Amino acid sequence: MLQQTQIKTALPYFERWMTALPDFAALAAAPESSVLKLWEGLGYYSRARNLRRLAQALTALPAPPATPDGWQELPGVGPYTAAAIASLSFGARVACVDGNVVRVLARLTADTTEFRNGSAAARHFGQQADALVPAGAPGEHNQAMMELGALVCRRQDPCCATCAVRPFCAAAQLRIQDDLPRFVRKRTSRKAVTRAWCEDGGSLLLKRADTGARRLAGLYELPTPSDLGLDDATVRTGRLLLQRKRGITNQQITELIHAIRLTPARRRRLDANTALRWIPWAGLADITLSGPHRRWVEEIRDDRQTGALRDQEPRGRRVKPPTEPLPARKTGPAVAAVKAPSSGRRDQSTSRSWSGRGSSGATGADSHRSQ
Ligand code: SF4
Repeated sequence: MLQQTQIKTALPYFERWMTALPDFAALAAAPESSVLKLWEGLGYYSRARNLRRLAQALTALPAPPATPDGWQELPGVGPYTAAAIASLSFGARVACVDGNVVRVLARLTADTTEFRNGSAAARHFGQQADALVPAGAPGEHNQAMMELGALVCRRQDPCCATCAVRPFCAAAQLRIQDDLPRFVRKRTSRKAVTRAWCEDGGSLLLKRADTGARRLAGLYELPTPSDLGLDDATVRTGRLLLQRKRGITNQQITELIHAIRLTPARRRRLDANTALRWIPWAGLADITLSGPHRRWVEEIRDDRQTGALRDQEPRGRRVKPPTEPLPARKTGPAVAAVKAPSSGRRDQSTSRSWSGRGSSGATGADSHRSQ
C-alpha cells in the first residue's frame, strides 16, 4: 500500500483491509472481487492479487520460510520484500536495497554510474549493501539505512550538516551529493484516449477487463470507441463531458470523455458483448472501477447535479482516504462487499518510490517488477 502513497493516506486503507482480512487465512479465502474492492483507489492492482495468491501459498505451508530464497519462491515476492521479511522477522543477514538505500550508498561512495532503472541500481549496490549488514541486528540495520535515506539523505536537500555518516561520505566531500544517484532520463510520450459515456435510463455502460488481463483484470472502465465497434471520430462528435490528463510511467495521456447515444440496432449488437455491462447507478458502489475512472464518473455525475460543467483544467490525481465507516471486525474469512473509497494521487513525499523521497514503510523496491 505504501508504494508511492503517503503513510497517512494509506493508513485508513490498511485499517479497513485488516478489519476485513485480519490474517492470511481470511485473505486466502476471500473472493478476488472483494480483495480488489478493498484496494480500490490505491492502483497497482497486481499487488492486491499477489497478496491474495501469497496468502493462499502460505496457508498451504506447514510454516513460513525463514530465508530470503524461501520467500522469493512465493507469489509476488521479489528480492526487496524477501530481504525485508527475512531480516526483520527472522534475523537473516541480508540487506534490503530500496531507492533510499541506493541513494545513501551512491552518495557514500560517490558512485557516478548511470542506471537504467531502480532494479539495475539495486543489483549494482547489492553486494556492498550485504557486506554492511551486521550479524547481530540485520533488521535494525536495514531499517536504519532506509530511514537514513528517507529522512536525512533525502533526494532533494539532504541534511549533510547534521548527518551522522558525513565523515565517511565521499559525495558530500566532493559536493556532488545532489547529482547522485544518476538515472537515465526517459522520454515522455503523449497520446489522447477517447472514452464513451453511454447512459440508458438509470444505467451507465462500462467495460469489464478480461479476468486474464495483465493489469486491470476484473476492473471496470469507461469503454473506448473500439470497445463499441466505433471509431474515435464518431465518438468525438458527441458532447465533451470531461477532459483529464494523467501519467502512466513515461506516458502522458489526455483522456477525453464524450457522451454518445447508441442506436437501438447498435445497442442490440453490444448486448451480445459480455465484456460490456449496463451498471445501474445504484450498483456503481458495488463494482470495482479503476481509480481514475471512478473519479471521472463521480465528477460527471456531480456536474450533472450542479447543472454546470466544470472547467476543463487538468487535475492531479488525488488519493483520498476511504470515507465510509469501517465495517465491523470479522473473525471468519468472509468479506463483505465494501463501498469503494475515493481514489486519488500518490504522493511521493513519504513513499519508497525510486524518486526517493521516502519515509517509513515496508514496501517499495520490488514495486517496479510487479505492475
Ligand atoms: S553526508 Fe549528505 S550526502 Fe552523505 S550520506 Fe549524509 S546526507 Fe547523504
